Amino acid sequence: MRNNRKRTGKPMAEPAPAPVTQMSVHPSLSYVIPTEFVDLPSQGIFYPEDHPLHNKDCIEIKYMTAKEEDILSSQSMLEKGVAIKRLLESIVVDQEVDVDTLLTCDVDAILISARASAYGSEYKASVICSNCFETVNFSYNLNNKTHGGLFQDKKFLKENNIEFDQEKRRFNIVLPSSKLKVGVRLLSNSDDEKYQLSEAQKNNSITFTLSSIVVSVQDLEEQDVVQSFINAMPAQDSRFLRNTYLKLAPLVQLTHLVKCGNCGHEDRREVPLNAGFFWPE
Ligand SMILES: [Zn+2]
Repeated sequence: MRNNRKRTGKPMAEPAPAPVTQMSVHPSLSYVIPTEFVDLPSQGIFYPEDHPLHNKDCIEIKYMTAKEEDILSSQSMLEKGVAIKRLLESIVVDQEVDVDTLLTCDVDAILISARASAYGSEYKASVICSNCFETVNFSYNLNNKTHGGLFQDKKFLKENNIEFDQEKRRFNIVLPSSKLKVGVRLLSNSDDEKYQLSEAQKNNSITFTLSSIVVSVQDLEEQDVVQSFINAMPAQDSRFLRNTYLKLAPLVQLTHLVKCGNCGHEDRREVPLNAGFFWPE
């Protein structure tokens, strides 16, 4: 019943725990809800020492049941952030894990695995051909997902003046224009919820994103110091920081070589996630 996926040994992480949880449905039934281990793109290295996922390279989740389908289809929770949070609370086995603290990359990995286990790994998506602008439909196998991010690439870190602060579990990045050092953390699920609910995404999405990831300037962590600097950050620094974050941060990559049936153009494209992801036809 269990699907404990093979993991490669990663030096930074502790060995995976044996599956011990028995999600018993009822004492009279022998049926047990299956669980699986999901590899964490973050490898657990950004969670502080007192976090249950500190240095853990995987997390145990249970398979989605009719209860989770209810969560996803409930009208009152259709706001994406709320539904996703309830879903995570329901499927993450370790109740010590506060799902708000899960990094967005790890949430993505959990959701993709949960979807593949519940409805199969085939996912139907479409993109617009970049050559002839026709719609191209294709099938993507969710098991082909890969993990990316240069957060452990020593060469990249050195070339971009980035250091990983072991104690605070975040990056120190020296900005090219102002030469100031900023502390940068990874986005978590609660940031994603705030973003979904906020008006900022329409008007001030750049400063909103920067406020979410920058936690110190020259080692000063006071909110007003950090916010004042963000509002006055040179555009060159802002751009460098956002681009660097995108390259640096761990992420789940879903890319597919899409061939256009109309003009034959081939392109490696990011697979867009749409409503069919959790509500397949
Ligand atoms: Zn085309």
